Amino acid sequence: MCGAVPAPAQSLPQVDVKLIPVVSDGSVTTVRVTETLTGLEGGPDRPLVSVPARIALTPGQAYTAEEVVFADAAGLLPIRMGVDQPPPGMPLQMRSFTPLRAITGPVTVTYVAKVTPALTPRKLGPSYDLRGIDGGVGGAYFSFLLMPLQAPQVDVHLAWDMTGVPGGAVVSTAGGGDYTARVAPMEVYSTFFLVGRVHGLTTPDSPFQAYWIGTPPFRADTMVDWSRKSFTVLQRFFQDAEAKPYTLLMRPYLRPRDGGGAARGGFMLEYGVGALDDAARRIMFTHEMVHHFVGMLEGDSSANAWYGEGLAEFYKVRLPLREGLVHIVEVAREIGVMTNAYYSSPLVTTPYAEVGRQRWAGGEAQVVPYNRGFLYFTNLDAQIRAKSGGRRSLDNLVLAMLERRRSRTVL
Ligand SMILES: [Zn+2]
Repeated sequence: MCGAVPAPAQSLPQVDVKLIPVVSDGSVTTVRVTETLTGLEGGPDRPLVSVPARIALTPGQAYTAEEVVFADAAGLLPIRMGVDQPPPGMPLQMRSFTPLRAITGPVTVTYVAKVTPALTPRKLGPSYDLRGIDGGVGGAYFSFLLMPLQAPQVDVHLAWDMTGVPGGAVVSTAGGGDYTARVAPMEVYSTFFLVGRVHGLTTPDSPFQAYWIGTPPFRADTMVDWSRKSFTVLQRFFQDAEAKPYTLLMRPYLRPRDGGGAARGGFMLEYGVGALDDAARRIMFTHEMVHHFVGMLEGDSSANAWYGEGLAEFYKVRLPLREGLVHIVEVAREIGVMTNAYYSSPLVTTPYAEVGRQRWAGGEAQVVPYNRGFLYFTNLDAQIRAKSGGRRSLDNLVLAMLERRRSRTVL
């Protein structure tokens, strides 16, 4: 994971994870998980490990208490499982496992995560769940990995065992498959990966790599080539001197229009089987890549979503247009889609705080930060240009904010 510091000598709780994909008839149907937790204290007063039961509208694994086996130095460790009931609109619902006695020594946890066939319908949501096709599997740790979320920081070592798995590849937005880092447990979750039979176009000299499972309904090589150009444009514009690696992952989905989920070092695209044309797809790729550079505001992620999503919508059209990577007619059409969605939304006059509360309730609120955020930044850009007589624009403001954040990170 980007920014993760390799574990120094000071001792922190350790989380050792082994992941073994299980193949049946050419498909990966499950992933067997074995975890060893060392250096943690625990007992009946609080959960030892937790995992999301739902992230936004994406379901996590529906583990039962019997399916997850805990043991420590004293033998089998009896556990109580609970699923919290957050108020509507909260992005996370957690499933937690609490020991019924004090733990003794390292704890091993074993369980099996199921892989859903990639073309199974589900609600619109981030691509965190485990989905597979043609011997490949994609997802994020968010949907299935139990972690000691109470611990502020842990030393994590995570390894995939691909023995006997056709293809045998492991790629992720954290770089390779195996992962060692000292991090807050939650940070492990947002890594997207593809394993098994993975296709890809690796370019050794570029920070931008692309991999996919299944068969995309477009020329993957052309699309990847364009995306690499767009990524380079963003990298230059946002003045990212570090040139951190960036990995585009793709998996199929039944939905007619494509969607995706962004992580720190890349994104997972769900390529739909419908009639999204290449221009719309390229603009959408650029949206996801903008997230890599601008990040988000601190605080309530739902109420503040207008910032990251609005800037991603704004720069997904401005930068490729400015560099001649898309035609102005395609940009005009995309702006038409966004402004129509803004003006026709039943929530057009609803304050953001309320929109944030409704964001994951399954209604219209989910798309508001995109369209309203786009129009906010478009309007702000016009005001800055008018006031400065054309000498400044939103670009100056955004670059100054990024610079300030980078220098704070250095401290
Ligand atoms: Zn976005």
